[in-house]
Amino acid sequence: MHHFISSENHIFKFSAGQPPVLKVSSGDTITFETMDCFSDQIQGPDDRLEEVSFDRVNPATGPVYVEGAEKGDVLKVKINRIEVGRQAVMLTGKDLGVLGARLEGMHFKILPVEKEYVVFDEKTKLPLNPMVGVIGVAPESGEISCGTPDAHGGNMDTTLIREGAEVLLPVRAEGALLALGDLHAAMGDGEVCVSGAEVPGKVEVTVTLVKGLAIPTPLVLNDRILAVIFSNETLDQAVDGAVEVMVELIKNRTELPREEIIMLLSVGGQVAISQVVDPLKTARCELPLRILENYNFKLY
Ligand code: CA
Ligand code: ZN
Repeated sequence: MHHFISSENHIFKFSAGQPPVLKVSSGDTITFETMDCFSDQIQGPDDRLEEVSFDRVNPATGPVYVEGAEKGDVLKVKINRIEVGRQAVMLTGKDLGVLGARLEGMHFKILPVEKEYVVFDEKTKLPLNPMVGVIGVAPESGEISCGTPDAHGGNMDTTLIREGAEVLLPVRAEGALLALGDLHAAMGDGEVCVSGAEVPGKVEVTVTLVKGLAIPTPLVLNDRILAVIFSNETLDQAVDGAVEVMVELIKNRTELPREEIIMLLSVGGQVAISQVVDPLKTARCELPLRILENYNFKLY
């Protein structure tokens, strides 16, 4: 079955207490219409930043209740298609991003989106590379702002989360309560100024419930690699966490001893930065599937 949710149905916090806007079954396809991370408040060069409400950043469309989903399951979200709007916006300024201490005031920039490019200025066109910045499920208890990444997913700002990828989210609350938003027409790893090319758009996904696959943090699979996504207070801790989760996933599914796995990751894997500008930092540990296949690794 194919469902559609308009961006009017959105949340600013992931929480088990959020009433779902839609109930779906495992195997269903959903098109999420999404606003940009500023709730589409900045539309043109004449818009006044003082009038932009920053209480309305990072809306995520949803949440969607998946029948039968319960704590200990995994919700696999296949990103079938991402369609982005014709214009993106970027923001940076004082105390924002990596060099916010060196900036004064707030600055935004409108970037036209063409068929294959995002236009930065008259000299630079960047390849269009649509991705999903915020995708997550409800935590077991409490609430987590959509601007924060963590074990539930959320604002992971991970460039791998693009068309064709599968995002595996650890379910912690009944129904999973999936929500997503914060599309980027392009973004570089790190997202150093605090934003990508922020765009509204539509994301078509297919959700599948995987029973009994215990994962502590989100995973991303594409046709080439398996990646562990890990967020923590510092980038060092995020890297340690991503590597540790990857080692344990392989340890529990192959005959390889721990020291062999870590050596394999060291020569054949890749540690990468997703983002360094959100309330927690996000790193990832990737390993090619063709290497995992050598050891008959099966995730589930
Ligand atoms: Ca983001
Ligand atoms: Zn964003």
